[in-house]
Amino acid sequence: MKLGVHASIRGGVQSAPERARDFGAECLQIFTKNQRRWEPSGPITDEEAEAFREQIDEHGYELADTFAHGSYLINVASDDDEQFDKSVDALVTELERASKLDLLGVCFHPGSHKGAGEEFALDRVVDGIEAALERSPDDTLLLVEGMPGAGTQVGDDLEHLAHWMDALPADRVGLTLDTCHLFVAGYDLRPDAYEATMQDLASTIDLDRVESWHLNDARHPYASAKDGHAAIGDGELGLAAFEALLSDERWAGLPASLETSPDTYETDLKRLRDVRSVDA
Ligand SMILES: [Zn+2]
Ligand SMILES: [Zn+2]
Repeated sequence: MKLGVHASIRGGVQSAPERARDFGAECLQIFTKNQRRWEPSGPITDEEAEAFREQIDEHGYELADTFAHGSYLINVASDDDEQFDKSVDALVTELERASKLDLLGVCFHPGSHKGAGEEFALDRVVDGIEAALERSPDDTLLLVEGMPGAGTQVGDDLEHLAHWMDALPADRVGLTLDTCHLFVAGYDLRPDAYEATMQDLASTIDLDRVESWHLNDARHPYASAKDGHAAIGDGELGLAAFEALLSDERWAGLPASLETSPDTYETDLKRLRDVRSVDA
């Protein structure tokens, strides 16, 4: 795995690569707009896109390892038509912006059904993604992120991820897995359980659909369905879980980003590098 960070775009998207480099990251993930708003404050200009690509290059990164994270407001699992339509529009915006920057893809949270039921939500997410793909540039992947399962969140069960991957085209849609989310959703990654969990993963989803990882330790216990990212080695997962993941050939070469805190990124990356035994 390539060990990266989620880098802030304070000062413009073109400022992210240098920030990531300062932490010692090998790849990066960014928001391309304020993640807590529906609308971007403006389009990404040709100049900004050009400056971003130059900075990626100058700091030794590859656009093919670089991802965007979509807005937290998106909920394509919603049975509220207005919320759903806004979410589809937002996915289109995210894909357009990522495409403008030549990023490999955008990961996003599928959402919560809020009482409409899991079965409804699973197909609603497919409808939402299909609608967004129809109106988006086809050179950018949409990556559904595995979720903790807080409240009525969907995407916390591997069967959900499998349902979406079966229904959606492999050349447009993939998966992002998050160590913390998997763990609190009931998929143990600690050494004693790691191999069994990987067997479970491999028999449920096509591992080739996994395009990126988020590396976060978990502040809350196993199967608690509660999100909360802890510094690597300081949470319920522990460093040994990351050692198992980073010694696993199945994930060799995939970009992975920390979403812990910029305050701990440097030590997090160092701890991860120290236990990585499979080539980046
Ligand atoms: Zn996320
Ligand atoms: Zn999270």
